[in-house]
Amino acid sequence: MSFSKKITDLKREVLKESEPLFAHIEDVAEANTLKVLDAMRECRVSDAHFNTTTGYAYDDIGRGKLEELYAKIFGAERALVRTQFVSGTHALATVLFGILRPGDELVSLTGKPYDTMQTVIGYDNPSPGSLKEFGVLYNELPMVAGKVDMAHIKDVITDKTKMVEIQRSRGYSMRSPLSIEDIRAITTEVHRIKPDCICFVDNCYGEFVDYEEPTQAGADIMAGSLIKNPGGGIAPTGGYIVGRDDLVELASYRLTAPGMGDELGASLSNNRLLFQGLFLAPHVVSQAIKGAIFAAGMFAKLGYKTLPLPTDVRGDIIQAIELGSADKLIAFCGGIQKYSPVDSFAAPEPWDMPGYADKIIMAAGTFAQGATLAYRAAGPLRAPYNVYLQGGLTFEHAIIGIMGAAQAVLDLDETD
Ligand SMILES: *Cc1c(COP(=O)(O)O)cnc(C)c1O
Repeated sequence: MSFSKKITDLKREVLKESEPLFAHIEDVAEANTLKVLDAMRECRVSDAHFNTTTGYAYDDIGRGKLEELYAKIFGAERALVRTQFVSGTHALATVLFGILRPGDELVSLTGKPYDTMQTVIGYDNPSPGSLKEFGVLYNELPMVAGKVDMAHIKDVITDKTKMVEIQRSRGYSMRSPLSIEDIRAITTEVHRIKPDCICFVDNCYGEFVDYEEPTQAGADIMAGSLIKNPGGGIAPTGGYIVGRDDLVELASYRLTAPGMGDELGASLSNNRLLFQGLFLAPHVVSQAIKGAIFAAGMFAKLGYKTLPLPTDVRGDIIQAIELGSADKLIAFCGGIQKYSPVDSFAAPEPWDMPGYADKIIMAAGTFAQGATLAYRAAGPLRAPYNVYLQGGLTFEHAIIGIMGAAQAVLDLDETD
């Protein structure tokens, strides 16, 4: 074993202190498991839906059933759930390009959007293929002290504003994620100011963290990734869009082609993985959140700034820790990698990732490449060198991984 006494003592202490925080998380997981099971019964899911299809795949009953199930669970009219979405960004971009037209304005109410969404928008420059290049206008409302600036929403919504984007999770920033109550307050305010303004939620990392989802709290449409929360660590790839019937239909014309929409698209991967992943998702999300609380507890005791704090209410599965130096960020990721089930022998190095401005270092020993419900740590190589921990398919793995990271960072301190 390669953990020092200091680390194992700390682990025991943190586990004991975290215990009272876990009861709420287990309750949410049970409620969401019931929600999924009730929907599976109402939709009459059976193993006839688990097959693959080929070609155009008209009347693909597995694909259709999965979309019916997603719509029901997320309290939405319609869903598009496809492995043809290459990532969360692709699903989110499909919503934006499907609905917005030249001259329409998109307003982000959560400040600067997630890195890859900036490229989609054409944030700094109208990058090729971006919304800006197509003549879609963009504005944003900066967050104030990590919160949405509720008092000033009315100042940024104008006649041109077709849609607001609300990013639930922190992404790679130190703001707080939004709670379902925050989202309800924002959508209520937007619809009060302009009833037909579309409230679009980037729900990445938010699924099953709370009892309700944004589409049950006023969002008109939302999207996310299947290799994050709703895939349960089992979905091999894909993304989803759920929301109002007319809006999901518009998005479907962008995913395939105008006129075709959601009626085509083969289930090339076994649909069982998507159904089974969805069934497991509430539990796996609870494991990830427990892991995040444990990580916050460990690193708070080691003297680091964490967001959220160990005792904060969670709005996503991400745990940010401010490490303060590139060396520590690299050591941390190396520690996580060492205790991964896949590629544990590899040493992560910073690299240029498509869609991201800074170099990113990532510990990624996951079964599906880049899957972020599986245990993963990543951070951009920029001050103050925050690491963003995500996921953990099992709480046991999260504990071991964070001990590995803590040990690597401590070893670095001792060699200084
Ligand atoms: C992960 C994420 C996305 C999409 O990223 P992909 O890697 O393309 O799935 C978008 N927004 C937020 C806030 C995210 O966390």
